[in-house]
Amino acid sequence: MVRTTPPRPVDLVAHLPAMASLARTAVRLHPRPGEPAAADSSIGGPLLWPAREPWPTCAEHAGPLLEGASVPDVMARRRILTQAWARPRERGTNLLTEDEKAVIDRVDDGEEIAQDGPAPMVPVAQLYARDVPGLPRPDGADLLQVLWCPFDHEDDGYVPSTVLRWRVAAEVTEPLTDPPLPAAVEDNYLPQPCVLHPETVVEYPAPHCLSGELAGQVHEWEKREEQQYQYELSVASGCKTGGHAPWSFSDPYPMSCPDCGADVQPLLTIASSEWDGNTSWQPVEDAEADQPPFPAPHEPTMLMIGRSYNLQLYTCVDVPAHQHVANMQ
Ligand SMILES: [Zn+2]
Ligand SMILES: [Zn+2]
Repeated sequence: MVRTTPPRPVDLVAHLPAMASLARTAVRLHPRPGEPAAADSSIGGPLLWPAREPWPTCAEHAGPLLEGASVPDVMARRRILTQAWARPRERGTNLLTEDEKAVIDRVDDGEEIAQDGPAPMVPVAQLYARDVPGLPRPDGADLLQVLWCPFDHEDDGYVPSTVLRWRVAAEVTEPLTDPPLPAAVEDNYLPQPCVLHPETVVEYPAPHCLSGELAGQVHEWEKREEQQYQYELSVASGCKTGGHAPWSFSDPYPMSCPDCGADVQPLLTIASSEWDGNTSWQPVEDAEADQPPFPAPHEPTMLMIGRSYNLQLYTCVDVPAHQHVANMQ
């Protein structure tokens, strides 16, 4: 099923022609729980990985013990809650059996689990260029893979530490079939396997990124026309590639490529939520569908970054293979 962003409530450029030159396209990925294969673009799905290439690990999160929840327990907890929410029940009756409750408690409380050496990272996103129009990429590469260490990293701003790999998919002739898993994860940082439904949309800069004069014009227009520029007309919500930076709780600050000092551009946004209470960005297909209570329809990846923020990855405008920059917004 495709996913379609509803038309914006108003034609912004018709009212504010100066905005036209600031338009950028973004590709909303519209992840939804599914069973992606290594040949598919996905969030939290298996990666097309060469068997002979070492899997990324995190030296900061190494054995002998890791504190968190095991991957099987996190997945079991999600299955248990999905099934429990789908069952009819009388008021005041327990939704869960004792065994089910034990799994939930282990995940919620965390435990210390033996980890042999540095913890393997987990797949977060795999994007084939054929699925994502305009993905900035190194010459010849047609596959982007993103992994992270599923714990907060102080040096990265208390978010997972990310690793990017660019590949030529056809060169992976002997793929890895049994990727390693860390002994423990922070359950909010283990993405639920999702298939993608990419859709190209047009974005405008967050209000904080407009010049003073233009920001003033937009503000006046918003008041006059009773429109909400920031939430409905500027930056799309949810997981996406390209577009503009979703500056929210902090003012924009300059970022540059760690390798060459050039400007950086938004590459990939990993979002906690696909849309918020304001359903302007809720795809029309999701508004029409009968939605289960769990997982919440707007939280298909089950990721929670900070207080429902976004982790945005930026790439060098000159050399996409240069080291990326990560920022939570
Ligand atoms: Zn780590
Ligand atoms: Zn660079």
